[in-house]
Amino acid sequence: MQDNASPAVAGQVGYVAIEQPFGLQPPRVHCPICGQQQFVEQDDEYLETPCEHLAFVFGGEEDEFVYASADFAERFERFDAELDARFPDEEARASAEYEEASSFYRDLFARRLADLGYGASLLALRITYGGMAEGNPVWFSDVYGFDYASIREDDAP
Ligand SMILES: [Zn+2]
Repeated sequence: MQDNASPAVAGQVGYVAIEQPFGLQPPRVHCPICGQQQFVEQDDEYLETPCEHLAFVFGGEEDEFVYASADFAERFERFDAELDARFPDEEARASAEYEEASSFYRDLFARRLADLGYGASLLALRITYGGMAEGNPVWFSDVYGFDYASIREDDAP
């Protein structure tokens, strides 16, 4: 199929949701562009080892972004400022519209990424994993964002 439209703005964020079998360790995510592992385990701790293609990591356990590239942080700041302008006070922020416009959970995640100005050159991998914690099963979903727009010529093998 031939597509003569400019791809620069066209297309939706690539958003993929994957579930690991219960009881497995959190995923070891490697960059699909350069192959670098994004976290390494050292003495029971996870150390960030992001490559230049990683835009963000949303930690399910932390329920917030635990890594943001400079570009992502800038986009997020703009997004946040727009939210502030649209919902300036407590009353406005108590509304369902605010909840809908500001939330990053589940199906809203891909829409938020579009709000941040991302399109088809972003791949968001949502990986859900579960295990036992204090006798109860718990599940978390982490989301890793890789920005194909960050690929440079010298990344080619
Ligand atoms: Zn990479």
